[in-house]
Amino acid sequence: MDRLSAERGSPQLLQVPVSLGEARANVLQAFPAWLFRFGDVFTQAGKRVWAVGGCTRDALLRRQLADFDCATDARPEEVIRLFRRVIPTGIEHGTVTVLWQGQRIEVTSLRAEAGYSNARHPDAVHFHDDITADLARRDFTINAIALSLDSSQELVDPFGGLADLRRGVLRAVGDPLQRFSEDGLRPLRAARFASQLDFAVEKATREAMSQTLAALAQVSRERVRDEMLKLLLGRGVAQALALLEAQGLDAVIFPSECLPVPAALWDALPDIEARLLACLSRAPVREAASDALERFRLPKSMGRLLLDAHGALRALPPADSGPVRMRTFLADTGVDAALLAARVVSALGRAAIDWWDASALPVEKSRAASTHGMREDTAGGHRLERVTAAQLEAARAGASALSVRELAVGGREVMATLGRPPGPWLSDCLGALLKAVIEAPERNSPAELLRLADAWSAKRRI
Ligand code: ATP
Ligand code: MG
Repeated sequence: MDRLSAERGSPQLLQVPVSLGEARANVLQAFPAWLFRFGDVFTQAGKRVWAVGGCTRDALLRRQLADFDCATDARPEEVIRLFRRVIPTGIEHGTVTVLWQGQRIEVTSLRAEAGYSNARHPDAVHFHDDITADLARRDFTINAIALSLDSSQELVDPFGGLADLRRGVLRAVGDPLQRFSEDGLRPLRAARFASQLDFAVEKATREAMSQTLAALAQVSRERVRDEMLKLLLGRGVAQALALLEAQGLDAVIFPSECLPVPAALWDALPDIEARLLACLSRAPVREAASDALERFRLPKSMGRLLLDAHGALRALPPADSGPVRMRTFLADTGVDAALLAARVVSALGRAAIDWWDASALPVEKSRAASTHGMREDTAGGHRLERVTAAQLEAARAGASALSVRELAVGGREVMATLGRPPGPWLSDCLGALLKAVIEAPERNSPAELLRLADAWSAKRRI
């Protein structure tokens, strides 16, 4: 066995039983009672149904069960007839979602696929009643284990999935090169599971990843995003990103500047926003970050937050800044983006300086030291001295307003007091009031602000 697929001895793996009988008993124990009642509906209609994919795998690993995928020898129309509430989610591929006793269960009719001419979807699917043939079209051996939800409660494992689970190995079902060429998302799913489960990828499967990049390039951004977000949140994210890089998938997924991120960083950044920003943090300009976000098709508000935070990464004030400078930074950047940037820069530490030094133009380098808040330390190396998220939090706590909306007076009161009609002057005036409040938070009272507005107006009329 090659180096990467060596036994890792992780506690979750040691709990996976060797014998099929013991494994079956574990799955039966982990599955909720409602799932078997769901199975009874099929049995009473003379049909069979199996729990497959993630739920069976995770039950064997004693992980928390997320969603339930089932396979059945009933055709999709028959499943629709059996239940009151069914959503035809992917009925053209034989998948419907059954809403059952407050649960959502994805039910796919046993099928085989033929002809992947576009590396995304099979040209044709045909339904049959052979569970082994259905498991053969699935991506990895550990995802190709099924438990029959009828009285036999049989565990079906035709491709050695249980043994691979025990070893902590991801192995494609069948010939990896062919399977990855059929659907270019599968190599990325290999990295995603490697991250979530902290598994190694078996040699032939791993090598096929770099040989099917053209297929990956054809996959929709939404499918890539869904896998990438799961990959980034996995506990093996560092090794999964290293795998993407080693196999050349990173270039298909990220713009060139983005990776790699130092492996030690991930534990300090548990949330998806911070992890995404860490990936973008090398991108030297807004356009590169925006290109990366575009590829991820993120929700608009999250994209905006990340872009603002990206801008803030290199603009964080030095650690010894006074409260006014910090409040000004928070107001200009937005509190959430500023805090996010500060957390990521603290975690990046030395690595950030190296990247930003390397990406600065030669003429900028002398200025870079001061704008990046760096100092020569006694050993002659650089030290990053930027504000931390905790310092920014404290500065926020000491602010009475960081946006015009938080001022103690609104535009209407200012217009009434000054007796002036609306116009561009109003936002200038409110901006001046905000600046005054950022400098001295105690000024944020209606009386004081209207007095300041009056003074501002008098000065501007001269
Ligand atoms: P999760 O815990 O994230 O739901 P999962 O393994 O259940 O993981 P799903 O995307 O829900 O993943 O898919 C359910 C099952 O369908 C998989 O376990 C696998 O057997 C099969 N499958 C999903 N996507 C593919 C694919 N692209 N190619 C082949 N089989 C797939
Ligand atoms: Mg699933």
